[in-house]
Formats: sequence, C-alpha cells, structure tokens
Amino acid sequence: MQLAGEKPYHIVTPCMHKSRQDIAELFTEKFNTPEGSAPEYLTAYVRQKLREKFTTADVGITGANFLVADVGGICLTENEGNALMSVSFPKIHIVIAGIEKVVPRMQDLGLMWPILAAHGTGQQISVYNSLVTGPKKSGELDGPEKMIVILLDNKRSDLYSNDDQYEALKCIRCGACLNACPIYKNIGGYTYDATYSGPIGSVITPFFKGLKEYNHLSSACSVCGKCTEVCPVKIPLHHMLLINRRDAVRAGAGGFIWNSGIKAFEFALSKRKRLDMFGGKTKNTFALLGANALGEKKQVPRLADQSFSKQWTSKK
Ligand code: SF4
Repeated sequence: MQLAGEKPYHIVTPCMHKSRQDIAELFTEKFNTPEGSAPEYLTAYVRQKLREKFTTADVGITGANFLVADVGGICLTENEGNALMSVSFPKIHIVIAGIEKVVPRMQDLGLMWPILAAHGTGQQISVYNSLVTGPKKSGELDGPEKMIVILLDNKRSDLYSNDDQYEALKCIRCGACLNACPIYKNIGGYTYDATYSGPIGSVITPFFKGLKEYNHLSSACSVCGKCTEVCPVKIPLHHMLLINRRDAVRAGAGGFIWNSGIKAFEFALSKRKRLDMFGGKTKNTFALLGANALGEKKQVPRLADQSFSKQWTSKK
C-alpha cells in the first residue's frame, strides 16, 4: 500500500481491494519485475528486499495487539513475521499502543489470541504470536537493547468515561464487523476517510475526530444489526450508531436545516393530536420533502388520508 501511495483499505487486510494482477503491475512499474509475475515470485522478491532493511534498521516500530498487565508485556499477533523482525533486529524497539489494549493476565491470551485470529482471518490461530516483556537481557543474543512503550490515550479516557459508548473500547480490531456490513461492502474502506472504517470506525471516529466533521458516518448505516451479531466481544455497534445520531442532534452537529427539521419532526410526533391535525395529503408532502432531502434513492410509503386512530373512531 505504501508503494502505491495509498492508505489501508481494511483494518486487517489493507490491500484487499487489489487483485494479484494489480500488485504484479505495481511491482513492474516500481521495481521492473517481469510482467504478470506470480505471487510466489513477488513474495520472494519482497522478502529479499525487506530482509536487508530489517537487519540494518536502527529502530523498529510496532503496535501491540494486547498489553499484558501481570507480566508487563506487549503482545503481537501476525501472519507475516514483519513485526517479529522489527522487534528482533534493530537496537531500539518502539511500541505505540492504545491504552484500551490492556488485558489483566497472560492466561487471557489463551482466549484473546484465537478469538482475534478466528474473527480476523478465519484461522484457528495466527502464524506468529509473540509476547515481549522487555529488551534483551545480558547474555541473550537477540532482541533490542532498549524498548520504549508509548501508551496512547488520544481521547480514549474520555470515551471510557462516557456511559453510553465506553464499550467501544472493547474492540480487538478483528475487522469482522467490516466484513459483515452491507454499507462497507458497497462503499469500501476509503470512503470513511478515517483510520478505522466500517461500523466500529463509524462509532469511534466522530468521538475521536469530531462529532461535527464525522457525524455523517453514523448515518451511513441501515441499522441491520449484522455488525453487532458478528462482533466477538459483543459491542452493540448498531445501537451505538443510533446513540451517535442522538448525540449529534443534541450537540447541533447536523447544521441549521437538519436540526430544525429533526426538532419539528420530534415536536409533531410526540403527540398524537398534533400528528392528526394534518391530513394525508399534507403528511405525504412533508414525507416527500424529507425523502428528497435525504437523496434521490430514498422512498417513503404513502400515508393514508386519515390516521388509523381517526378511522377507528369514525368506524366505532
Ligand atoms: S467492533 Fe467487534 S467485530 Fe468490529 S473490529 Fe472490533 S471486535 Fe471486531
């Protein structure tokens, strides 16, 4: 993805939108590899090219899938071995990890590792799983001389103190909700314009990067609930998106027309009498106006001339 000058498309499989032909073409353009090279050839080529970078780098930077409290370790899980090499060869290892990654005990990895692998890539366990508890000790041959762990808050503490949304911090970034989401499947990862895409991205991005700027993500959801169904740590994602929408209205993040429309809608709907003041024609005109404002693909059912309660009363 770096070679193509693009950002990751998916939080687990960053170049899932590229075919092997796309990748072969990119390599031919950048490295003059034979046209239409097979994945095995390209993998061997990359391995050779990157190995030298790993063995000569001064500093290796990794994230952490989990931070294990009882042994003071950072945990890495991967299928390629790049993170392991970033830890093993350079003299300095820098870890950057969100504070929500902490699990209490090493034995928790017995649950978390397979859950992450199964929901991320469908494996029983990822190929490389490492637990690093510090720089190399005297007498040890491999490992960095220095290890620096940077704990990233970046509004996570604020999220933790939010009674409605704190559960979003349980996310283990498996990507299952992205794969299940009909919106993500149609619009892809770039449309979100954020580090985290898909349902979990729509939940946390407005919180991290601004409710006003990213309010639209909470509305990019049909509330089908598929994300909540597949989430291995049971985050009520679709419910949280509704809470985001509510909070956006309360904070006035939708702009004057939207906020006034929602207020008028709320006012009309909160009392049956108010709703019955208008006949079917007026209601249908308003419904059509609302649907048009939401986009040309929105359709609303036609309302009857008289409400059910009015019809009921007159029939009695
Ligand atoms: S919200 Fe759940 S399903 Fe989505 S990435 Fe996080 S853990 Fe996986």
